[in-house]
Amino acid sequence: MGACQTATLKHAPRYPRLAALGHGLQHHRKAIQIIQWTVVGFYAVLLLVPAWLPLPGHQAHILSNLTVFAAFVFWGIWWPFVLVSMVLFGRLWCGVFCPEGSLSEAASRVGLGRPIPRWMRWKGWPFVAFLGTTLYGQMASVYQYPTGALVVLGGSTVAAVAVGLVYGKGKRVWCRHLCPVNGVFALLAKLAPLHYHTDKAAWEDFNRRARQGEAVRHAAPDCAPLIPLKQLDSTSDCHMCSRCSGYKDAIQLQARKPGSELITPSRDRPASAWEFALLIFGLLGIAIGAFHWTASPWFVQLKQLSAVWLVNHGWLWPLETTAPWWILTNYPAQNDVFNLLDGALLIGYIFATGLVMATLLSLALALANRILGAWSWARLWHLSYALLPLGGLGVFLGLSTITVTLLRGDGLRMLWVNDARAALLIATSAWCLSLGWKILGQYAMGLRRLLALGGVVLAIGVVLLAWWLMFWGW
Ligand code: SF4
Repeated sequence: MGACQTATLKHAPRYPRLAALGHGLQHHRKAIQIIQWTVVGFYAVLLLVPAWLPLPGHQAHILSNLTVFAAFVFWGIWWPFVLVSMVLFGRLWCGVFCPEGSLSEAASRVGLGRPIPRWMRWKGWPFVAFLGTTLYGQMASVYQYPTGALVVLGGSTVAAVAVGLVYGKGKRVWCRHLCPVNGVFALLAKLAPLHYHTDKAAWEDFNRRARQGEAVRHAAPDCAPLIPLKQLDSTSDCHMCSRCSGYKDAIQLQARKPGSELITPSRDRPASAWEFALLIFGLLGIAIGAFHWTASPWFVQLKQLSAVWLVNHGWLWPLETTAPWWILTNYPAQNDVFNLLDGALLIGYIFATGLVMATLLSLALALANRILGAWSWARLWHLSYALLPLGGLGVFLGLSTITVTLLRGDGLRMLWVNDARAALLIATSAWCLSLGWKILGQYAMGLRRLLALGGVVLAIGVVLLAWWLMFWGW
């Protein structure tokens, strides 16, 4: 047996079939590219054509009207199930299907190839971009109107191509640093049971064999999101494109326990205040507020009280002034116009929900943190990971309200939907509890661990209360 084979066997993958699947994908690059460009074409048609068609009437159906069909595909299927795919397969969506990533990378191959500037590397972009897109999406009623979708999704695509044309050489600089959903995808992918993993011992062993002439060095894989391949032990940035599969006999597609990366986070990814803010204030706060306001009787009351107060004080302009449709929803023919008061209250309500949720969740987690011992910021950040499954489920449930509304508009009664929501919330809470228990186990055992679990239970309760209000309480 040759030295090379010996070394390969010594570092044989734990899941050979998965490793073979990764290698197979790598060898079918052409097929992946065909998929990517097919998705780009499909995306372009669904985004551009409805924006130039007349708005559908109330009787329009998913299968009889392209605009309703596009809304159903984008918001009812595409986005909710992209989120599900993150939890199941990591960021496979990004590497194989995402039209924006494909376009940005293609643009970068023919672009100026400039180095990534410092401002772009700022760690706060995922948080700011997620907040900005969520708020703007609500202001422009992105789920209801194709022109709103064109501005939000199309604007993001144009920016992705522009960044590709200027920065990086055949890379996905946009995806790595500026994509509005990069932060959320990076979080959710941590839950995935699949990942490309570098066996560092096999890596070193390959280098040693290469120095001795027993192994042949190949060019480094073209990793579009610019990941240092030797440290590949997190799914957060990896787009699962499989280009590095088998590199140095050390990188393989492997299986792991779902959520295991949350229990023992990668050492190369220290506690991050931006990540904490994105999860607690963004995903579990602002995102919930963005779904809540349309169902909230408190929002209606607030609007009425504010309008009465303004009229009594002779300030009529906030009630009369409207902004263009690309700033605030403005479709008079549809009887759907936001005045300045509507816009201000909408932003205020979503922000207030974010603040209330973030405060309550931080307090509950801080309680658990304190029970475990002296105050530790890194531990608080780590504990927040226990809530990640509920954060992902919340956005899925929120977006699926669009799926349900459109399907009901088509005559499906779907009486089982609230039972399914309850079942999903219960199952996901159990997952959060189990994750919380395992994370706490990294810091304490026995009674202290059990008491600290109380803080995690409180936090889960806060999130459940928010969804109970939306689907049952109001
Ligand atoms: S590390 Fe890079 S090259 Fe490897 S699968 Fe992930 S994105 Fe692709």
